[in-house]
Amino acid sequence: MSDIIDRAQEEEMRIRAEALDRMRARPPEPGPLFIDGVACCRSCEEPILSARIKAKPGCSRCVACQGEVDLRSQFERA
Ligand SMILES: [Zn+2]
Repeated sequence: MSDIIDRAQEEEMRIRAEALDRMRARPPEPGPLFIDGVACCRSCEEPILSARIKAKPGCSRCVACQGEVDLRSQFERA
């Protein structure tokens, strides 16, 4: 029984280590595009909502575009 738990813990640690490696490998976000002093999305160039900037300082894209990028990267990884 404890064998199963040990193996599950090892597997979880391996998955965590891989996730951390992926995070470290990802280049840092360049931040938003500033158009007339307004933080704008790097994909669609629309202003990023101030609530999003407060929640995620330094974000590069609006919620819609970031969602698309995240989805695409999930498919690329799979
Ligand atoms: Zn956008």
